[in-house]
Amino acid sequence: MAEDYRLMWQEMGLDLEAHDALLGVLGQAYEDIYLAQKNRPEGMAYFDFVMSEVHGLRIRELLDEKKAGRKIIGSYCVFVPEEIALAANATLVGLCSGADFATEEVEKLLPRNTCALIKSSFGFKIGKVCPYLEGADMVVGENTCDGKKKAYETLGNMVDNLYVMDLPQVKSENGRALLKAEFYRFMEAVEELTGVTVTAESLKQGIQTVNAKRAAIHRLSLLRQADPAPISGLDALLANQVFFYDNPARFTESVNKICDELEQRVEAGQGAFPKRTPRILVSGCPQAVPNWKLPMIVETSGAVIVGEESCVGERGTRNLTGESGTTVDEMMESLVDRYFKVDCAVFTPNSDRLDHIKEMAAAYKAEGVIHYGLQFCQPYIMESIPVENALEEDGIPCLRIDTDYSLEDAGQLKTRVEAFIEQLR
Ligand code: SF4
Ligand code: SF4
Repeated sequence: MAEDYRLMWQEMGLDLEAHDALLGVLGQAYEDIYLAQKNRPEGMAYFDFVMSEVHGLRIRELLDEKKAGRKIIGSYCVFVPEEIALAANATLVGLCSGADFATEEVEKLLPRNTCALIKSSFGFKIGKVCPYLEGADMVVGENTCDGKKKAYETLGNMVDNLYVMDLPQVKSENGRALLKAEFYRFMEAVEELTGVTVTAESLKQGIQTVNAKRAAIHRLSLLRQADPAPISGLDALLANQVFFYDNPARFTESVNKICDELEQRVEAGQGAFPKRTPRILVSGCPQAVPNWKLPMIVETSGAVIVGEESCVGERGTRNLTGESGTTVDEMMESLVDRYFKVDCAVFTPNSDRLDHIKEMAAAYKAEGVIHYGLQFCQPYIMESIPVENALEEDGIPCLRIDTDYSLEDAGQLKTRVEAFIEQLR
């Protein structure tokens, strides 16, 4: 890192030794996976910088915001509305949960057969290695899958200010009413935390800021429809991951800048991989930082990933919020409309997701879909069978993968992915 941040980390209560070990592993993985890629857009230098300073400069910025009176809210799910946090003078950051840490300790608190994402969130807390988590004034959990719901009961004893948002499981009128009531309850909790009342003006500003961020990502996604794909799946995934913790305005500007470059690449027929490289859509569980395992395997096996049907991807970013409302209530309605369309596998029935996967496969001209399930994730693994069946009806091959964060199965996965790509050829 460009500056020595040890004192800052110490003051935040991080375990310096464990944190050094984590940064060492992360830095090496980034070098081996990201910096080893060829034909990267120049604009990715921004994201390389963000990653190199992910526990440094960005944390210092957040601490400066705190000194100036702003509050920091950590969140684990795309259902938590950043617009409301921004409107009440708070900054929302994603709590990544994309790597194993302190697994032995975690398994004293959670059953072994818990998904890697939930275990990771506990590992980062137990190991005291996440400055985002340690710096957060409020941590928001949500009642989505059973694993998370029950895990938050335990996490509540480990973090100071855990707030749990209830979420519907059915897309009915009642479900929508519950989401609206919960967004209001969240708004009140954030107002209480910050001492700032949300106004029509501040909420509109929050909506516009987040819409701009999502619109930039939509622009990036559209450019990936080209053949050759102008950006690798790994790099596009990184942009989707950084979405959750960068300064929103700077993120939007940086993504738009990279899109300007990608437009030129598309026009010149330049790609991250040669034309007619087999194109794959990844669908399933979120891939949080630094979970780069699957795209690394796919893109070193002769294919390119052209889209992610995932919460760290299009499921999380796809619709914009209507901006025509003039009162807080009208804008809250627009927010509920937008978030209620998120087709997480915790919903039943969830046929919208099947349609969305098919639409994405067609739009991004994907020749095959890899369904990415985290082991022990009931909702997504259960849904992977209907996904495969729906794709088969349309003649789109689907490979179902259940894995975790360890690299133990990397060799076996690579063999399966290579055989799948061969089939696509
Ligand atoms: S998969 Fe579901 S629970 Fe997980 S982040 Fe997405 S919406 Fe939230
Ligand atoms: S990956 Fe699956 S089991 Fe894990 S938190 Fe998300 S929905 Fe729950």
